[in-house]
Amino acid sequence: MAVPKQKHTKSRRNKRRAHIFLSAPVLTNCPKCGKSILPHTACSNCGYYKGREVIDVLKKLTKKEKKIKEKEIAAKEREEKMAEKKPLSWEELSKK
Ligand SMILES: [Zn+2]
Repeated sequence: MAVPKQKHTKSRRNKRRAHIFLSAPVLTNCPKCGKSILPHTACSNCGYYKGREVIDVLKKLTKKEKKIKEKEIAAKEREEKMAEKKPLSWEELSKK
């Protein structure tokens, strides 16, 4: 068996290990619900990918969880509808 001739110093060892570290994953926001997701993957929160539903997120939930989730989705859709409405212009605001 080959045996090292000389001990490597702490400095040499640490310099070698300087490149060994974890990096934070790259995340993007889901265009449907806004949750942060990995790019090129279906959203686990709303089950959407490329603008269409690919995962039925309500399928595996219990009755209680389902109710909460449905409420959440409804609230989100209501919020989107509100956002679609144009903000009042200064003319409309001055009438009231
Ligand atoms: Zn989503």
